[in-house]
Amino acid sequence: MSKLSSRITNLSESQTLAMTKKSRELQAQGRDIINLSIGEPDFDTPLFVKEAAKLAIDNNYTHYTPVAGYLDLRKAISTKFKRDNNLNYTPEQIIVSTGAKQSIANAVLSLINPGEEVIVPIPYWVSYIETIKLAEGVPVTLSTTIDSNFKITPEQLKKAITPKTKMIIFSTPCNPSGSVYSKAELKALAEVVIQFPDVYILSDEIYEYINFVGKHESIAQFDFIYDRVITVNGMSKGFAMTGWRIGYLGAPKWISDACDKMQGQFTSGASSIAQMAALEAVKANPEVTFGMRDAFRKRRDLVLGLLNEIPGIKTNVPEGAFYIFFDISSYFGKSFENYTIKNSSDLSMYLLESGNVALVSGDAFGDDNCIRFSYATSEDKLIEAVKRVKEAMVKLK
Ligand code: PMP
Ligand code: GLU
Repeated sequence: MSKLSSRITNLSESQTLAMTKKSRELQAQGRDIINLSIGEPDFDTPLFVKEAAKLAIDNNYTHYTPVAGYLDLRKAISTKFKRDNNLNYTPEQIIVSTGAKQSIANAVLSLINPGEEVIVPIPYWVSYIETIKLAEGVPVTLSTTIDSNFKITPEQLKKAITPKTKMIIFSTPCNPSGSVYSKAELKALAEVVIQFPDVYILSDEIYEYINFVGKHESIAQFDFIYDRVITVNGMSKGFAMTGWRIGYLGAPKWISDACDKMQGQFTSGASSIAQMAALEAVKANPEVTFGMRDAFRKRRDLVLGLLNEIPGIKTNVPEGAFYIFFDISSYFGKSFENYTIKNSSDLSMYLLESGNVALVSGDAFGDDNCIRFSYATSEDKLIEAVKRVKEAMVKLK
């Protein structure tokens, strides 16, 4: 019998982090690997944010903070929600956490009872399913197609809701598909959920500022659904602050109170220094992030153009985030030397071992026909990476 709990033995490792670990190990052995597996901006954190952190240390912001986060930061987030998203969350409804990952875990663990169902559209971000499992909830996935830009329909959502449904979790812009839901599409989904009084929406908006199609829309903006939504966001993506570990949520107060209680037992709150840095970022005009967004859009176009020269793959045009999730299923059944490709995981291993490029297989996101390419790196590296992918793929016969 395992000495470990069934909770941890049943938990899968994060595939994005596992692939990154593997490519770091290979790099340490001297292999020239291009790692496109972790979704993280290659930009440095803006200087004014770094300066704020240095000042925070000098000014002795080194003690425990309130569990929910410094009041000044929560006030600034409240203003940001109004400014960017037309959302009214008071500081008391906002909880700052150690990354959006923890905001999601707090909300799921606070709301989901064993056996309750959580609807998750495919492709999903890797950690949703495992977090639901930790809460002993039951993930119910909804399939989508590349031809409909990996988006679910209101009819599909309605059909999936049962008396056991407690929540739906999705991201817009989406990791890994880059899909962005429009205001009308969000309203149509909200109109379904409102018919079921016990169903909540967790809206993961961490890629808000990396949106190539215009204004970001939040599902909580519709008054009729506001009380049923948990809006998650954070500093990692838009401000290139992955290592600072600051995320936050806005929610009905009874839910944020629960998250406060949860993290009071788990972490006592996020880092004081990182919170002071986040304060400056949240207060800044979002225009300071537009340069990074524009660079991502240029890279998307570059990579899409190059990928489309590889025979047999199918792409769509992602509208946000920094990933391309493309269909490689026409390669299933093909071989080269001792590699035979039966699924997306075989292909990502083959590309790593034989092509020296680390991508993440689609099965980690619920869609085994696809593979995820993160273009959050320099154009030179991207050009070289696609060249390697192409060379490796055309060898498969
Ligand atoms: N949601 C999505 C969709 C993500 O891609 C990430 C990135 N890891 C997160 C949440 C968590 O972000 P973080 O914990 O770095 O704030
Ligand atoms: N969100 C990123 C990704 O999907 C970071 C890794 C992670 O937290 O899973 O690659």
